[in-house]
Amino acid sequence: MLHSNHMVSASSLRPCPSSSPSSRTAIASCSSRHFCNFGFNPKWPPINPNQSRNLSFSHVYGYKPAIFCALKDVKSSSSTSHNGNALEFDVVIIGAGIIGLTIARQFLIGSDLSVAVVDKAVPCSGATGAGQGYLWMAHKSPSSDIWELALRSHRLWEGLAETLRDQGLNPSEELGWRKTGSLLIGRTHEELDMLKRKVKQLSGAGLDAEYLSGADLLSMEPALLIGDNCGAAFLPNDCQLDAHSTAAFIQKANRHFKGRYAEFFHDPVTDLLRSGSNGKIEAVQTSKTTLYSKKAIVLAAGCWSGTLLRDLLREGKTVLDVPIMPRKGHLLAIDNFSALHVNHGLMEVGYVNHQALTLAKDFEQTSSVSMTATMDVQGNLVLGSSREFAGFNTEMNEFIVARIWERASEFFPMMKEISFSDIKSSSKVRIGLRPYMFDGKPVIGPVPGLLNVFIASGHEGGGLSMALGTAEMIANMVLGSPGKVDPTPFLVQGRC
Ligand SMILES: Cc1cc2nc3c(=O)[nH]c(=O)nc-3n(C[C@H](O)[C@H](O)[C@H](O)COP(=O)(O)OP(=O)(O)OC[C@H]3O[C@@H](n4cnc5c(N)ncnc54)[C@H](O)[C@@H]3O)c2cc1C
Repeated sequence: MLHSNHMVSASSLRPCPSSSPSSRTAIASCSSRHFCNFGFNPKWPPINPNQSRNLSFSHVYGYKPAIFCALKDVKSSSSTSHNGNALEFDVVIIGAGIIGLTIARQFLIGSDLSVAVVDKAVPCSGATGAGQGYLWMAHKSPSSDIWELALRSHRLWEGLAETLRDQGLNPSEELGWRKTGSLLIGRTHEELDMLKRKVKQLSGAGLDAEYLSGADLLSMEPALLIGDNCGAAFLPNDCQLDAHSTAAFIQKANRHFKGRYAEFFHDPVTDLLRSGSNGKIEAVQTSKTTLYSKKAIVLAAGCWSGTLLRDLLREGKTVLDVPIMPRKGHLLAIDNFSALHVNHGLMEVGYVNHQALTLAKDFEQTSSVSMTATMDVQGNLVLGSSREFAGFNTEMNEFIVARIWERASEFFPMMKEISFSDIKSSSKVRIGLRPYMFDGKPVIGPVPGLLNVFIASGHEGGGLSMALGTAEMIANMVLGSPGKVDPTPFLVQGRC
């Protein structure tokens, strides 16, 4: 269970006694340097590795801040919040979804910086809590901008699972980890041709990938009944996790860094405070606390990042618009569904096109349901998923849930024998707002004009799979270390 509304470890952090930067407590230097090996493999490259294929961040990140935003001046505003709380950290992260939590983890295991995570609610209250949990490469393309990031992230997830095993822990129990392999399924000649090309591409990019004929596919997934003219791309190394278990695990691991880590939940961020002297953003104002930041503020507020940034800049001459939008998704999770068993992670080819659809004028064109099916470690069947642009509304739409059931029934006809109303009592609907960017890539990097502020948002339907790579990228940017993946495609410049 995730704890909520608690500030963990903050008792060991000293409050800021005054507004003067010089008189504020330097938390990192006074905190106990408790380096816990929980979930961290000492064999992994250090955060500042000296390897030839590393990319120099300063090389690719030669932007000039060009935007002026008048924000509150720290000097002219109180150093303490209205209830007198002010604390200082090296890094303040806004958002405790999978992106915010893994960024916190990366700073904790890879540096000696102190970290605060602040959320208007609790972890898993955003898109993360709805995620199906597949970390698949099957539906990704080696020629896309996100490929390197996704691949790196995939390796980091596998490394984490391996580290847990090395430590005598069970990744299935800790993360809901399953290495089931994935099947991207086609049902038409066109789709099968596409899958054959895809397998070539994925193999060419160094992944284990195999094209399965209809007969092979049906022998691996006997519950499928989709005619003879079917086939699949099979990636045996694809894995899945459970988003709730994983978020809880990362949160627990972060909390082991006593004195360097604190959480502020049910505490929305309301303002950014700028220093009068150098224009640097010095603090994050929440509803209850002022969180000063010595090194960086990271905006990881998922689909709320764009509107939050606009709100935070409202008092100035804002010209920066990060157009991240909510893209609503429903999932249907059926408890202990013994009538149907799937051995692998399944996804229909149509998913790829649905994910890539951009917002069109016609809502119908951009509202879609495509079949994904996974079985979690408890044996629950999870069926996905829908995509629609419906603002920030998270109400359940029964029509969409019924469409998810019907769509799955096209692949598993035995489901047609079961009335949807019969499984309602044993099923849960998960609804989340994916952080959608129109160009299909997350935004990762410094926010122009806001010295000290970074953004990591907009992962749409791939935030779980890309989380560890994103966290590594942000930490490298903040620390000025070389990175493993070129961050250029993800920078704000030219996209917002
Ligand atoms: C149905 C569905 C299925 C999915 N399946 C998968 C999958 O199988 N694999 C995969 O990789 N991805 C999947 N995704 C996508 C994935 O869940 C997201 O990309 C990911 O969770 C985004 O994480 P995040 O941390 O950026 O955002 P979120 O999890 O939304 O977290 C953002 C946080 O910011 C907080 N916040 C917002 N405003 C403020 C404020 N003013 N002050 C403080 N805090 C604030 C929110 O409370 C929230 O906790 C799925 C998504 C959905 C909806």
